[in-house]
Amino acid sequence: MIQNAIASLFYTHSNPTSTFAHMSLSLNAGQVAKAKQLISEAKSIVITTHKSPDGDAIGSSLALYLVLKSMGKKTTVIVPDDIPEYLQWMKGCDEIVVHFHHKEKAEAIVADADLIFMLDHNHLSRTGDMENGLRNAKADFILVDHHQQPEQFAKVIYSDTASCSTCEMLYKFIVWLGEKERIDPYTGECLYCGIMTDSGSFRFPAVTAETHLIAANLIERGVDHAQIHREIFDTNPKDRLKLMGYALNEKLEVMEDCATAIISLTQDELKRFNYRPGDTEGLANQALSVKGIKLAAFFREGNNEIKISFRSKSSFDVNQLAREGWKGGGHVNAAGGSSTDTLENTLNTFRQQARSLSSSIINS
Ligand code: 5GP
Ligand code: MN
Repeated sequence: MIQNAIASLFYTHSNPTSTFAHMSLSLNAGQVAKAKQLISEAKSIVITTHKSPDGDAIGSSLALYLVLKSMGKKTTVIVPDDIPEYLQWMKGCDEIVVHFHHKEKAEAIVADADLIFMLDHNHLSRTGDMENGLRNAKADFILVDHHQQPEQFAKVIYSDTASCSTCEMLYKFIVWLGEKERIDPYTGECLYCGIMTDSGSFRFPAVTAETHLIAANLIERGVDHAQIHREIFDTNPKDRLKLMGYALNEKLEVMEDCATAIISLTQDELKRFNYRPGDTEGLANQALSVKGIKLAAFFREGNNEIKISFRSKSSFDVNQLAREGWKGGGHVNAAGGSSTDTLENTLNTFRQQARSLSSSIINS
């Protein structure tokens, strides 16, 4: 009964290109036709995403990979650097080529490709060391992404900055391609993972009724949502929990006068807890969860730079903050950037910035 109710909500529109048009941005029929043509003519397809890939990056890449493979297309997912362990359960993950470890192989596949998908990033610089190879590739590009201000590089650009995730957009893209029936439980798991992680488990403002309808359809198709939740949230290495505890207990700095909270971790501190990629995921949101805080920043010291995560829970635009001062970008409420200064100087610069912006932070 419930399934029928969902189905009737879902299939109201008979034209696949207009199925979601009433709710959110969509590709027009010409763009969909172009994407179909590029896919059907491509002999070798590459899917790539941003460095330090997260659930939406890996989820969207593998979902598209599984769909294209089931269409008989030769397809390779190439990611700039390591995939966090908590994402490695997704089907196809062990076939991903990691550029950092297999540079020559990855560059050769990119050079040979005639179609490249840019997923979950809007600028080739987000692929780090892959950027040059991608820029010089002979391939046509298709972009599917939800970050602000996309680079106008791809032949087909599907950009919806209001969407909660690339996976949500990719679900619709697959529907528009006429390939929805290829979304099997494995593909569905990848899409669900990206939607769930990027939407903060369906809680951020970008979540819409449509997001829930898509999630419902994925569950109808056999996705075990509780299992995905367990894979993501109940597989913490002990060291990771201790690192989180340490960061919250010892390193949380609350600047009440400007509604801002900061957490920072040095390389030594990270080493002490056997840091692995993905271990600090969520710390910026923890800082943001302090009552009365509207802006949070998390600083992680790396070998060559300090990686910064910005979060806000109001109208305060951290995409703008990241773009203007920190060589970064993202979304209004979640963005990232970096600094090549020392951690101490970087923190002082940020503290000053927060103080000078205090009235707009507090009133946001
Ligand atoms: P996170 O803080 O979780 O790494 O990233 C938050 C959001 O900002 C994500 O959507 C991510 O893609 C984006 N982001 C993170 N770092 C950067 C960066 O250095 N440059 C740009 N343009 N976006 C970033
Ligand atoms: Mn995303």
